[in-house]
Amino acid sequence: MPLSTFHVYSPAEFTNWIRSTAFTRNITFIQNHHTFLPSYQNFNNHADHLFWLESMRSVHINERHWADIGQNITIFPDGFIAVCRPIDKTPAGIFGANTGAICIENMGDFDIGKDVMTPAQRDSIILTNALLCIKFDLRPNIAQVVYHHWFDRAGKRFTAQQINSGAVTQQQLQKTCPGTAFFGGNTIIDAEANFYPLINTKINALNGAPAPPVNITHKKVNTTTLNVRSGRGTQFGIVRKIPGNTIVEVFEEKDGWSRISSDKEEWVSSTFLSL
Ligand SMILES: [Zn+2]
Repeated sequence: MPLSTFHVYSPAEFTNWIRSTAFTRNITFIQNHHTFLPSYQNFNNHADHLFWLESMRSVHINERHWADIGQNITIFPDGFIAVCRPIDKTPAGIFGANTGAICIENMGDFDIGKDVMTPAQRDSIILTNALLCIKFDLRPNIAQVVYHHWFDRAGKRFTAQQINSGAVTQQQLQKTCPGTAFFGGNTIIDAEANFYPLINTKINALNGAPAPPVNITHKKVNTTTLNVRSGRGTQFGIVRKIPGNTIVEVFEEKDGWSRISSDKEEWVSSTFLSL
């Protein structure tokens, strides 16, 4: 069997791809994982999507003795989304619970005190789960959007009571995957409070709710030199600098960052803008 070909997409490209591609496998649920390794530090030291995909594939083949990379989808800290093992192939995600699954590996270590998820990755995780729900007629609920942590080593589900009480972790019956800080926690209570509502909102938006009107405001740079970055966060590269007192157009504000281009990912910290 030939190994799968990796395809790395921006969120917009992935949206177009999943909407325009037909699949044949019967999909009944979505698994969410974190990679643990590679972590954010690994990716920040070497921000090369294909390098890390090949690296994970090598571990999966050589150490776990799988036929190919395990996951169907990898979501990177910069928000890029890679299709790995084809969607029409059963993944190796949760031992004993892979039939009918799509396996998403979110790159990073999302246990409490470890990697802090970037807004871009957060958006892509919500988007990907929402797009897959629409494509395969699934709902964000405990049967159809699941965490690895909820299954034992044979692929049998723990009870909600075991998961929500923390018994699973205390008894070291299973990994914390996708992490004790993944969208506020890895229990069922956490998923219902903090993850499913975001997916639902995104599903509604994707299903044709009108796009919010573009409201351009003009603001003034109130610092000596302002860094323009390629994403919402200081971990993103500086694409250019703007001198103080410049008037900029703000197209969108999110997470304390302002987008100052109508069509490009150009963001500045909102702290340094005044009306
Ligand atoms: Zn996992």
